[in-house]
Amino acid sequence: MKEKVVIATQNKGKAKEFEDLFAPFHFEVVTLLDLPEKLDIIEDGSTFEENAIKKAETISQKYNCFTIGDDSGLIVDFLNGRPGIYSARYAGEEKNDEANIQKVLQELEGVPSEDRTARFYCALAFSGPGMKTKTVYGTCEGIILTEKRGSSGFGYDPIFYVEDFGKTLAELSKDEKNRISHRGNAIRKLSHILDDWVSGSGLT
Ligand code: IMP
Repeated sequence: MKEKVVIATQNKGKAKEFEDLFAPFHFEVVTLLDLPEKLDIIEDGSTFEENAIKKAETISQKYNCFTIGDDSGLIVDFLNGRPGIYSARYAGEEKNDEANIQKVLQELEGVPSEDRTARFYCALAFSGPGMKTKTVYGTCEGIILTEKRGSSGFGYDPIFYVEDFGKTLAELSKDEKNRISHRGNAIRKLSHILDDWVSGSGLT
């Protein structure tokens, strides 16, 4: 029988990325949407890692199962790292992408291109019965534009310019974004760890 791994998200898009990660292993991927009760885990950590660990360990302990927690956001150098862990609710209201973008653009008004450097950051925590929680992170470097470009993706993608592509993340295809994104990079790191861990754990 396959072991279950719960992805601590209600976002089906994210769950799909993790399904691909676990495809080579003997795990069945489920999300919070598949659990019997709704769990609201308060993201009150002071780092992305703390939030990811809290999500993974809360669910893993409650359901005695393997769990991945994630937390991600945008770090703008000129803003001393803001919006950071507050990325989803930077303008006040939870997940208002347009308001969040406008707030960042306003705070960077008049700032020259060379000082508009930024990165996306993603922390992943993997936790399960009888194991020590493991964390990895991935980043994606870019520059904050002065106006939006492109319409795919979500969040801050339309103002996040990636020099290697000459495009914003919102102008990239899903595959292109996955290849360079903070989440893609973190998932690839986790997959190396899982390779080693699964082969030493008897779960293969
Ligand atoms: P969460 O990790 O899903 O809570 O994401 C936090 C917030 O960071 C999101 O609501 C977005 O505003 C921002 N964010 C995280 N990853 C991305 C991304 O890949 N593109 C654009 N915005 C992102």
